[in-house]
Amino acid sequence: MSSPRLSVEQVIKDLKKLYPKAKCTLDWQAPLDLLVATILSAQCTDKRVNTVTKSLFKKYKTAQDYVDVSIKELENDIHSCGTFHVKAVSIQESCKILIKEFDSEPPKTMEGMIKLKGVGRKTGAVVLGTAYGVIEGIPIDTHNIRLIHRLGLSEKKTQSAIEKEMMKKTEQKHWAALSHLLIAHGRAICTARNPACEKCVFAHTCPSSTVRKRKS
Ligand code: SF4
Repeated sequence: MSSPRLSVEQVIKDLKKLYPKAKCTLDWQAPLDLLVATILSAQCTDKRVNTVTKSLFKKYKTAQDYVDVSIKELENDIHSCGTFHVKAVSIQESCKILIKEFDSEPPKTMEGMIKLKGVGRKTGAVVLGTAYGVIEGIPIDTHNIRLIHRLGLSEKKTQSAIEKEMMKKTEQKHWAALSHLLIAHGRAICTARNPACEKCVFAHTCPSSTVRKRKS
């Protein structure tokens, strides 16, 4: 007899026991810092971003500071985060919009966040939820898509379709936690290349578990 499908609520419950302190691992002080750090974190580790932002946030304290330098100077300051030209343009153009439309601060709505350059729902949800406690979506990135697919929580392919399905299946109060918990489990156990299914709390319930496959 096959095991029942895992529910999102059950996954959250089990992962909360394992990672009770799971939270955003980017360092920041002001909401603008978090916006910049989240833009820098695309295809880069949070550890690397935190190393770069240590000096970056001392130099750039306001949206105007990011606009006042040349694009080359900003590129140079964020170089080691990768795709630095695209990220520098996103930061500078977003800061221009912040100055013009949002009193130089990241907006507190998703509608406002996605007006910024290079900022989609994922970055918007991270900044809104972490900096302001405003929960308007679930940050879905490639890492938690991997977990969601492996655990059989969704078969949808795109980021936005997966986010919509997870929002339907989970109470809003769990939306921010879901993302942090999946990321924590993806780092600790269900890594991209070598998932440690034998050590996983879902070893006997996850449809992708190698432990289950060996038994059947
Ligand atoms: S059982 Fe394996 S594939 Fe499934 S979540 Fe755990 S580590 Fe990932």
